[in-house]
Amino acid sequence: MYKISIEELKDKAYNIRRDLIELIYRAGSGHLDTSLSLVEVWLSIVHSDFYSLDAKNGEMKNRDRIFLSEGHACPVQYMINADLGYYPKEELLKGFRKPFSPFGGHTVRNLKYGFENSNGSLSIGVWQAYGNALETSNNVFCIAGDGEFQEPTSQGIFSVPLNLKPLGNFTLIINRNRLAQDSEVDLGPIKEVAALYNWQTMIVKGHDFNALGSALQLAVEDKDRPTLMICDTVKGYGGDPNHAGKLGHHGKPPGNDEEYQAYLAGLEAGRRN
Ligand SMILES: [Mg+2]
Repeated sequence: MYKISIEELKDKAYNIRRDLIELIYRAGSGHLDTSLSLVEVWLSIVHSDFYSLDAKNGEMKNRDRIFLSEGHACPVQYMINADLGYYPKEELLKGFRKPFSPFGGHTVRNLKYGFENSNGSLSIGVWQAYGNALETSNNVFCIAGDGEFQEPTSQGIFSVPLNLKPLGNFTLIINRNRLAQDSEVDLGPIKEVAALYNWQTMIVKGHDFNALGSALQLAVEDKDRPTLMICDTVKGYGGDPNHAGKLGHHGKPPGNDEEYQAYLAGLEAGRRN
């Protein structure tokens, strides 16, 4: 299921969160709580048996692919790709959100750095991923926010004509943290709608590596239809417990040392549990 142990994955999750808190506090901008909600989801894909990559050759033709649709979550992508060895972490720490750097506020396609798509406009990554899944036989994963799936432009993905290609290589992950920028999100019967259109559907505990690994295996093994994985996550998970899962913190970095320390204290408390 995974190329490394669950304990190693948990250690990575801790380290990635610690580095994200530092990165975004230092930069004074960035979507920290959204990024924290995706750490286990992202790590579970790139360290699974179902994801081929070569960090020294990002343009490798036979690579599996992750498309990020909720582009404001790019810090988690940046930090995990540094950990995978696409570039030194120091380059990210220096360049994050700086002009002309590869590490802007949304991702810009850069295969050398492992960034499959440019994003920013919500929904766009969903359709980039779909087009790519038609073209390749490799696995294509798309990570989208539940906020953006309130839009018909996102929901339309479920009604694509699967007679063109069954799309068994396509896995769409919705990061269901139930919060958008300034409102709560309830996507209603989205799972049932996708199933009506012959998608494989599942609801997954999005911070549980065992659950994520099993779900990815089911997704990849079903060659006859695309998969919708609705991952239940908590916005701000593993950070300041006074922010986690609550409205009002979207896109707000820790504003001072006290807030920064509150995130680190939350991280440490979570590790002990
Ligand atoms: Mg959300």
